[in-house]
Amino acid sequence: MQFDTANRNKDIFIATDNFYSMKKKTFKDFLAANINPEKKLFTKGAIVYNAEGTAADEPIVGDGVWLEYWEAASLKAIPDKCPCCNEPLDRNSGNIHGTHIQINQSVLAKRFIIPTCAGCNGKHGQQLNINYVDEILGIEAINK
Ligand SMILES: [Zn+2]
Repeated sequence: MQFDTANRNKDIFIATDNFYSMKKKTFKDFLAANINPEKKLFTKGAIVYNAEGTAADEPIVGDGVWLEYWEAASLKAIPDKCPCCNEPLDRNSGNIHGTHIQINQSVLAKRFIIPTCAGCNGKHGQQLNINYVDEILGIEAINK
């Protein structure tokens, strides 16, 4: 889905009806915050690492839910399967998380959010591979 800049607000409110969070407030807050997190496209075969020490981090907008931050920033739909392990990302069971990843294991590495299953979200410090989607957009994690 393409978004027309002139109608960006309107489009977002239409789009949110199909989004996981359904929290239009998160989208509104994201626009109002006037932030521009880096977007990094990870393609199939990319090797990434689950970040460590992020448990207390909260996104700069929204109600502390990184998945909602990812949606508001990416304007992408959550994939049906976990990009890393192919587990179904079922909205009803809540088995979808906004996971902090980085491209290497340096503590200084920039952290990005991608949607994954709970299992992959919990693999702190471990390697994850993007194997089950053609591409997934990572959104730079900006903390409150
Ligand atoms: Zn997974």
